[in-house]
Amino acid sequence: MTIHATTPEADAVARRRTFAIISHPDAGKTTLTEKLLLFGGAIQLAGAVKAKRGGAATRSDWMGIERERGISVVTSVMTFEYGGRVFNLLDTPGHEDFSEDTYRTLTAVDAAVMVIDAAKGIEARTRKLFEVCRLRDIPIVTFVNKLDREARDPFDLLDEIEKTLALDTAPVTWPIGRGRSFAGTYDLRRNLVRRLDDDTEAFAVNGPEDGRLLAMLPEHERDAFAEELGLAREALRPFELAGFREGHLTPVFFGSALRNFGVRDLIDAMGEFAPPPRGQQADTRLVEPTEPRMTGFVFKIQANMDPNHRDRIAFMRVCSGRLTRGMKAKLVRTGKPMSLAAPQFFFARDRAIAEEAFAGDVVGLPNHGTLRIGDTLTEGEEIVFRGVPSFAPELLRRIKLTDPMKAKKLREALQQMAEEGVVQVFQPVDGSGAIVGVVGALQLDVLKERLAAEYSLPIDYEPTRFSICRWITCDDKLELDRFVNAHTSSIALDLDREPVFMAASAFSLTYEQERWPEIRASDVKDYQ
Ligand code: GDP
Repeated sequence: MTIHATTPEADAVARRRTFAIISHPDAGKTTLTEKLLLFGGAIQLAGAVKAKRGGAATRSDWMGIERERGISVVTSVMTFEYGGRVFNLLDTPGHEDFSEDTYRTLTAVDAAVMVIDAAKGIEARTRKLFEVCRLRDIPIVTFVNKLDREARDPFDLLDEIEKTLALDTAPVTWPIGRGRSFAGTYDLRRNLVRRLDDDTEAFAVNGPEDGRLLAMLPEHERDAFAEELGLAREALRPFELAGFREGHLTPVFFGSALRNFGVRDLIDAMGEFAPPPRGQQADTRLVEPTEPRMTGFVFKIQANMDPNHRDRIAFMRVCSGRLTRGMKAKLVRTGKPMSLAAPQFFFARDRAIAEEAFAGDVVGLPNHGTLRIGDTLTEGEEIVFRGVPSFAPELLRRIKLTDPMKAKKLREALQQMAEEGVVQVFQPVDGSGAIVGVVGALQLDVLKERLAAEYSLPIDYEPTRFSICRWITCDDKLELDRFVNAHTSSIALDLDREPVFMAASAFSLTYEQERWPEIRASDVKDYQ
């Protein structure tokens, strides 16, 4: 027997699972989140995560716009304990207009649960989010939801996942019946059956022909089911941990979030298979989670979470070491020290001061505008974490201020909103009014509402002649200056005062690229 010397950091890291749920709207992400939190004892009342239209106000619907539209606009984190492990579930906005937020959140997780509607299979947004996970080799556990309703054939669904996502599948459970006949699941590895009406105890059976198993289904479905299960056991790929951890195989679970069925197996699998916090790539080296010194990066800023306390919270993923309340950290971007006086943990309905946190944890750091998305905090080391990208906006609008006396205030407010990642702000070098860029139109509504509510700044939007925006770089600094000088009416500076070129059409962008081959135009920018 080997005895491993272990540190408190290593123990804490091994217990942690930091993940997000990816899905197409309506597949059941919110329902599943509620049920997962119930397992963690984090909420007593299912239904507390997202108030639908007309529902009671809850922690996560802190903004009027969200209440009005019944959508979840904010990204937040929920921590809970289950089975001796600490789970950090990072919530992602459901609406695709906030996809940038979601991409950033996915840079802070080590695994994801992909929820699929059993009647619909892989939908557009699931596919897109999956691609983001794949870029980072994030392992994915699949939950096929809504088996209690009319569902597609499970072989068909697995085949679709394999073909459309180029991802191997390994069913861990198999549904016993579907729709009205859905009666439970069969654990393919251990030959255990869970019943829909009581999932607390699984019972062992002797394979597909077992009488107790078949008795769960109507008589006329039994033969076909025994055959289907036999085929599933023999023909489908068994689960294999290495393939899952490398991101090319997904274990698949079947269930019904609404009926709180299949969720227990899912969360057990997250504990058992999903990786503990992984090393994070910084500009100069890979930072291991068990290193003694604290490091972390900010992937999300949320302002005004509690209308009674105007505050701004930066969400930081701890990447290594131990964060303790009151410690001094260095904000690498400015080189200045920062006291982490009141780091917070978030639960479904509450937050609490975090006395200490470890790699994989997400802490909220209250601040008055010191922290930005993409910031790295360390105990002194000069490193910058990579991978919190910014995407070129797809909609550009000029801001029209109804009260010109407030121009200075508007500049400050826009700077804040850009630092929080609400919108991107570009200041044209020719001195004309600021241009805001967004990925989805709803972001424009959020900006307008927040400027009015938090800064008393009523604004309107005006169209611009630009429809495309690209960050421009060049190895030859003088060539870049020449390009900028030749296009002053189409150049603006972003938050970091880095230049973007704005074009009226894809045609004019291509035209300029042909004329200026040394200028690189990029639609993604890494922060820092
Ligand atoms: P989200 O948009 O992905 O967060 O989806 P929701 O969790 O809000 O679910 C969308 C709708 O599907 C709601 O009406 C849910 O009650 C319903 N729903 C979610 N899970 C299930 C399920 O397992 N079975 C059935 N029949 N309905 C479900």
